[in-house]
Amino acid sequence: MHFVEVILPLSLDKTFTYSVSETEYNYIKIGMRLAVPFGKSRIYTALVIAIHQNKPTLYDAKEIHQILDEKPIVTEIQITHWQWIASYYMCAIGDVYRGAMPSALLLESETIISQKNDGFVDESLLTDDEFLIYEALQQQSSLKVQDIINILNKKNIFPVIQKLIDKNILVLQEEMLETYTPKLVRYVKLHSKYETNEGLSELLEVLKNANKQKEIVLSYFQLSASEKKPITVKKLIEVANSTSTIVKTLIDKEIFEEYYIQVDRVNFIGKTKDEQLQLSEVQQIAFEEIKENFTQKEVCLLHGVTSSGKTEIYIKLIEQYIKEEKQILYLLPEIALTTQLVGRLRDYFGNKVAVFHSKYSNNERVEVWQQVLEQSPKAQIVIGARSALFLPFSNLGLVIVDEEHEQTFKQVDPSPRYHARDASIVLANSHKAKVLLGSATPSIGTYFNSQSGKYGLVEISKRYGNVKMPEIELVNLKDKYFRKQMSGHFSDILIEEITKTLSLGEQVILFQNRRGFSPVIECMTCGHVPQCPQCDVSLTYHKFKNQLRCHYCGYSMAKPTNCHSCTSVHLTTKGFGTEQIQQELVELFPNTKVGRMDQDTTRGKFGFEKIIDSFKNREIDILVGTQMLAKGLDFDNVSLVGIMNADNMLYHPDFRAFERSYQMMTQVSGRSGRSEKQGKVIIQTYNPDHNIIQQVVHNNYIGMYKEQLYDRQIYHYPPYYKLIKLTLKHRDFDKLKEGSMWLYQVMKQNFTIPILGPEEPPISRIRNEYIRTIMVKIPTNQSLQGTKKTIQKILNSFDVVPQYRAIKVSVNVDFY
Ligand code: ADP
Ligand code: ZN
Ligand code: ZN
Repeated sequence: MHFVEVILPLSLDKTFTYSVSETEYNYIKIGMRLAVPFGKSRIYTALVIAIHQNKPTLYDAKEIHQILDEKPIVTEIQITHWQWIASYYMCAIGDVYRGAMPSALLLESETIISQKNDGFVDESLLTDDEFLIYEALQQQSSLKVQDIINILNKKNIFPVIQKLIDKNILVLQEEMLETYTPKLVRYVKLHSKYETNEGLSELLEVLKNANKQKEIVLSYFQLSASEKKPITVKKLIEVANSTSTIVKTLIDKEIFEEYYIQVDRVNFIGKTKDEQLQLSEVQQIAFEEIKENFTQKEVCLLHGVTSSGKTEIYIKLIEQYIKEEKQILYLLPEIALTTQLVGRLRDYFGNKVAVFHSKYSNNERVEVWQQVLEQSPKAQIVIGARSALFLPFSNLGLVIVDEEHEQTFKQVDPSPRYHARDASIVLANSHKAKVLLGSATPSIGTYFNSQSGKYGLVEISKRYGNVKMPEIELVNLKDKYFRKQMSGHFSDILIEEITKTLSLGEQVILFQNRRGFSPVIECMTCGHVPQCPQCDVSLTYHKFKNQLRCHYCGYSMAKPTNCHSCTSVHLTTKGFGTEQIQQELVELFPNTKVGRMDQDTTRGKFGFEKIIDSFKNREIDILVGTQMLAKGLDFDNVSLVGIMNADNMLYHPDFRAFERSYQMMTQVSGRSGRSEKQGKVIIQTYNPDHNIIQQVVHNNYIGMYKEQLYDRQIYHYPPYYKLIKLTLKHRDFDKLKEGSMWLYQVMKQNFTIPILGPEEPPISRIRNEYIRTIMVKIPTNQSLQGTKKTIQKILNSFDVVPQYRAIKVSVNVDFY
């Protein structure tokens, strides 16, 4: 009797036993994939986690269909790590497996497959089976794996499909195939030899008889005097009413020089930087301290103010691990940030940098998977958002978690609801690798660990190049409105500063933590605010499309002309968002280019990159945006940041609201004055004396930390208590209410620790499902594992109560 134990990519806790022949038994290794039957007629890609001779007692083991790999493609370290994730975050091992693997490696009978539409296919190179599939796809645009089983009249078809995917002929349907090539914008400047006064007269002499060329040079002077910013070839031709041929002549004559403002490329072609990166004295000290810390500790926090040059320190550190031939994982909070960073890292490490994230096509993801598995130098450094953590590293030396405070490191939905920072520390541990956490505004929990001695701590309080921290000025909105010194949402001070900044040819960032035109439409007669029919939220007004939209489920309707409740036509808008700021700017500064960065404008693929590119290329003067702006972007020409309203962040009903407000404001402010000149920040607020705002102004992280920590201790929150949130959902309000009460009561009886709820969250209905939450607070001195076991038992008994069966319960450990 020969068996294998496998994980299936389904939301199931258990592993399953299948039977294999003796030959198969001897061939199969842990970490290989098998195609196995499951249920009535389904086939799935299973992962082998054990090979044994114990017959299952509860069911007859089915036979596998076939072995899919010649070598393991998942390492034992990964399997152990995934099991840790399942156990710590209280989720099914199948969920972790499904979330971890690129979907091209998880073919199943329901997977839909179609032909890649751009490639040329040399039919003579196809095997008979491959040709049959290819031919079928000339008749139909897509096929299910099940259809292919029928076409080939055999079960063992996954390898054939895999080959066709590898050959770039087939793709999984869910895939996005667009790729982004950032724009390269061409600029010109006067050749340096003409920069002096003598040079200038020489130049006019040279051009004496070339009128067209002279014209364009004169236009160049005019433009550079009025614009005070780099001049694009396009603009120059436009203004001079000239042609690109004439510009070309001037470049050939070495009167103009052409250049491109650095744009980041996904594909590296150039050479690595010749000049060595030279750390400043302060950076060098920090670098040595980190290495010193690593001799004692597994994890070190680098707390360095914005623009202190943390990235350069990471680069130096990476260099060391490269020399030791170790693999390096570099985690970022946001995929959109990778392009900027990849550019910077490839300057130093050339082809050793690979990128892994969910916006990449399946083929690219599988390719990186293979490279990491084979320890290829091409993927020695892997940059990615949280899922890069699941790659098959076998020789990991260093993990960097940049902007470690960002909440996007925690996956909310679907399960596994893991925190990539925390999970990467566990992963590093099993590789005996080191972890460097970096942030200008560390999360309270991380800083707490650095104070308790669990993590090392290295701090930098100066910006690189001794650039001063931005000067922060507060504007009291109450006062400004009272004195009628506001135009729309802009105080006279902010307008003045924007005007000044633009006149110097510098750029402005304006932060408003809300998208849309204004959050709601309200009836002035009866006070009615239109609500989403499926969710318990007010609809948001989007002026551009003249629509009301739900930000939770996407529902939209045309803006009503009269109140749905009392039919009055007197409707007004309340509150304001990014779209309205943008519109006000257009009126206040008619000749400026205004860009907007929020979920609405970056929704399209690479929308984010496009906006960043045009801001970097200075095609946009003022950039208005939501919290996306706060995430470690490096712009060298921004000297003013305006925070339109600091108050709506502060009053979120969330124990982390103050911490987050501090982080957000400090991070956004940090975008100002990153090179040479001291930057300026204007914060508009109704509460200039609020502690958090004062702490932001004085860059007083420690003050914020101590105050928040004190509150956390008193009100029983992390880091003193671990939080587990249970979320219950059902379409039937009464049933949900009853069920959540039942669950709460049983938990109360079983625990002495604080159990809160069942609570109606601020948004208590989404997509027609009602929601209740129960919060469990576990003091750090109590066994976490034991508590979780009890919770799991209670959930299992909840599951078998017939009337509550249909209530969905999800568990969020270390709820954020
Ligand atoms: P942080 O990540 O700490 O906010 P960055 O690493 O983005 O800061 O550095 C801020 C700016 O200073 C960047 O433009 C970077 O290129 C520059 N910089 C930092 N350190 C150095 C260095 N040692 N040599 C040259 N430029 C540096
Ligand atoms: Zn009304
Ligand atoms: Zn809705």
